[in-house]
Amino acid sequence: MPRRKPVNQKPHLLILGGTGDAAAVARAVVAAYGVRIQVTSSLAGRTRAPASLPGSIHIGGFGGPEGLHAWILAQGVDVVIDATHPFAAQISKHAIQAAHAVPVLRLDRPPWTPQSGDDWHSVTDIAAAAALLPSVGRRVFLTVGASELAAFSELENVYFLIRLIDTPETVSAFVDYDIVSARGPFTKVGDLQLMKAHRIDVVVSKNSGGDATVAKLHAARVLGIPVVMIDRPPCDLGCPGRAGVNQAETVQQALFWIKQIVGF
Ligand code: NAP
Repeated sequence: MPRRKPVNQKPHLLILGGTGDAAAVARAVVAAYGVRIQVTSSLAGRTRAPASLPGSIHIGGFGGPEGLHAWILAQGVDVVIDATHPFAAQISKHAIQAAHAVPVLRLDRPPWTPQSGDDWHSVTDIAAAAALLPSVGRRVFLTVGASELAAFSELENVYFLIRLIDTPETVSAFVDYDIVSARGPFTKVGDLQLMKAHRIDVVVSKNSGGDATVAKLHAARVLGIPVVMIDRPPCDLGCPGRAGVNQAETVQQALFWIKQIVGF
């Protein structure tokens, strides 16, 4: 049973985060409402030094949907914003399963779409990207995050420029590669220079959407090189357009929704 909150207790907003949009929501809510609202940002704990955030921070998993549900009740959470990465499908599903006692909003930036002049090769997952890659290019700008590098590591006669937030201690099995450690947002000029300097002839990207990491796609267009684009994973709960799922595409829309829900 949901815990009844004392009338004088301030509302508690849980932001499932790990994205720039989640951080922007946390900052904007704290800037707008200050101490009138309690804000907790939750991170999976995948990066060593996450960007600084206002309010409280929870790092690491909750223990499945049951754990998340128990946490929501124990901490008196009133509203959940799921602003996780579009490829983090598991935690989004858990948010819908666990948070039935409180309102949930899914903040999901629209996927990128190819523009005139783009040469995209869309694939369904990482394995398909790795299988296709040698037929598309040999000098690869690999921007899929740290957890899924292994699928590419044994491709032969392929050079990789691997961009990661944290510098890894080891990059298993890659033969010919460089690492660039950087956190977005990235610029068109910066990505163009980087890709030219490394004579990149193909980009591999997840279709994350948003502005922070789109520069590589502009650079690919300018250079006239292909992009292997990994589509978003299918979702069975919390999908855009599904009845009963509160949906926002922008931070501003999410803030408007929060304002309605908490009644400030
Ligand atoms: P996931 O498959 O959705 O989540 C796996 C588990 O990690 C969840 O079940 C949950 O553990 C925990 N978790 C994930 N996000 C959390 C959050 N914000 N707060 C607390 N716990 C969280 O996501 P993933 O394994 O992190 O990543 C899957 C894909 O998303 C990868 O392609 C990755 O590159 C991409 N991605 C993820 C993030 C991120 O911040 N998670 C950021 C950028 C890209 P419990 O079940 O124990 O609660």
